[in-house]
Amino acid sequence: MNKALIAIDKSHSFRVYLAITTAMVEDARKIHNTSPLATAALGRVLTGTGLMGLQLKNNQDKLTVQFKGDGPAGEILVTAGGNGRVKGYISNPDVDLPLSDRGKLDVGGAVGKGTLTVIKDLGLKEPYIGKIDLVSGEIGEDLTAYFFLSEQQSSSVALGVRINTDYTTLAAGGMIIQMLPDANPDSVDALEKLLNEMNPISSLIEETVKQSAGKTEEAIIDSLLARIFNTLPDEFAVERLEYREICWDCDCSVERLEQVVISIGSKDLTEIIEEDEKAELICQFCGTKYHFDKEHLETLLKESMQKEGKNNVEGF
Ligand SMILES: [Zn+2]
Repeated sequence: MNKALIAIDKSHSFRVYLAITTAMVEDARKIHNTSPLATAALGRVLTGTGLMGLQLKNNQDKLTVQFKGDGPAGEILVTAGGNGRVKGYISNPDVDLPLSDRGKLDVGGAVGKGTLTVIKDLGLKEPYIGKIDLVSGEIGEDLTAYFFLSEQQSSSVALGVRINTDYTTLAAGGMIIQMLPDANPDSVDALEKLLNEMNPISSLIEETVKQSAGKTEEAIIDSLLARIFNTLPDEFAVERLEYREICWDCDCSVERLEQVVISIGSKDLTEIIEEDEKAELICQFCGTKYHFDKEHLETLLKESMQKEGKNNVEGF
């Protein structure tokens, strides 16, 4: 389990969503066996989407974030719930590029040019869908632009992933600073200065964790919050509102995959049963394999035909 927290400044000008996601990103790395560059790219999207999930009002609300660029990483897709559960995948987990000019993993180059789509399922009839052109493919900048262009919300998103020499995840985390309506204009200037002078969030997490041996996760994230915001003037001092949890979790199940099989349609399903007599489906998110034998497929074929019959009646 990773900890996140939500905080607000004294003048109620901005809210902070802060998370340390090292364990979550490491879980994803192990499942998808990602290269360091893929770990950084997927890890940033997992963290950013997880933070956005904290902004959802209800536990059962869901959010999908899709980066579709023309770079060698391919598509990166992550979903998060209001309950802090996050899962995702990257099309090319082996992606590898030379380090950027600044000696960093070239996430922007791996993602390339393309679009960012955000789908929010808030339990209403239609989901909310927002789509923008990618700014840099560096993920944090793209999400910042998404908030501004698609939600008319002034937010700043910082995300970071550091990799160990043995390719495991050393430190990962992120922060969203969300400006609130009627924010004190001075707070905008103060935050701009703070963000300009701030070290990368992954370094701050690495240092904070190093200096916090034996401390609880709550105490560690409290120290991180203090470390980031301690230079702000007193009137904008940040105060913690609540701790939240954020973690990797794939909720796939036989029942869910049965629905996928049914949606293939009776015509194609009949063909699969006649030709292969079985089917194997692999969850894209966690790699779990689901086997369907002939008998199971025939049951699902019946359900599929029933469904199609019903749709036809409704169609008339
Ligand atoms: Zn799964």
